[in-house]
Amino acid sequence: MVLRTQTRAVKVGNIQIGGNDKIVIQSMTTTKTHDVKATVNQIKRLEEAGCQLVRVACPDMRAAEAIPLIRKEVSVPLVADIHFDYKLALKAIEGGIDKIRINPGNIGRREKVEAVVNAAKERGIPIRIGVNAGSLEKRILKKYGYPTAEGMVESALYHIGILEDLDFRDIIVSLKASDVRLAIEAYKLAARTFDYPLHLGITESGTLFSGTVKSAAGLGALLAEGIGNTMRISLSADPVEEVKVSRELLKSFGLAANAATLVSCPTCGRIEIDLISIANEVEEYISKIKAPIKVSVLGCAVNGPGEAKEADIGIAGARGEGLLFRHGKVIRKIPEKDMVSELKKEIDKLAEEYYRK
Ligand code: SF4
Repeated sequence: MVLRTQTRAVKVGNIQIGGNDKIVIQSMTTTKTHDVKATVNQIKRLEEAGCQLVRVACPDMRAAEAIPLIRKEVSVPLVADIHFDYKLALKAIEGGIDKIRINPGNIGRREKVEAVVNAAKERGIPIRIGVNAGSLEKRILKKYGYPTAEGMVESALYHIGILEDLDFRDIIVSLKASDVRLAIEAYKLAARTFDYPLHLGITESGTLFSGTVKSAAGLGALLAEGIGNTMRISLSADPVEEVKVSRELLKSFGLAANAATLVSCPTCGRIEIDLISIANEVEEYISKIKAPIKVSVLGCAVNGPGEAKEADIGIAGARGEGLLFRHGKVIRKIPEKDMVSELKKEIDKLAEEYYRK
């Protein structure tokens, strides 16, 4: 099994995908790419949420021509998503794109593939091969009867082979399926078959709620095994939500660098404060903190501080007031109305201490 630390390292703009234990968070804009203003605004929102690589659809020449204009306005590396048309790929590369997603086997004649590969080589731009269970090559479907992990990896190897024949190895591969078990199987087989970095994703996973559960189930199983170098959570929702889910998922595996984590209790009959709204407010607040701080919000003091010994800072409800505690030790009491604001101040202090280090 080629674990994420053992894959090839591929540079995308100023970031590295593969060859280390980092997982790069991606998302994709939902604006029309030719609408430069709307696309730039969305990219900036994604970047602020923690997105490290943004993909834009490039369905036509208008979109490809917008790439240099978008490139000028944002600093995050950009990926152009292209299907079939090599001219769009060339235009995107010329326009300063940092990576292209195109399947070389779908480009057509060899000269066209060569033109794209040569342009990518000249500019040091990697290519992501995107295998999708729903659009496998006819001959592969005929061979296996229906989409299988073996068929998906065979498709990946076909496209990889075309690039390797042209001595091109800055490759990243995705093997997406909307069936969670199929995606897990395909990624595991890929990790046993080649050492190119893997872009994880469950395609067409659904809405914010169902898609989050489905993606976390599939990607969680892979991340736990050490598979995957970059990921996108695909949701029928604002793409900023995709980034939030990615960050939360990475945090749960200790794989998110410099992100604050919230621990909150499920509440029970012992509850002494309005915990659910406090937890939501604190969660929103810490989403912008770029320090590995653990914050705990608990409904009562019976088990509270003890249940969150690991927390750097936390509050526990205690009849109309809250106990502020650090690493399980109570520091002081705070009236209920000031609990959240005091907790935020303490979080800021800890973050400042971390940034100064
Ligand atoms: Fe119940 Fe208190 Fe535990 Fe929350 S911390 S689940 S309120 S006992």
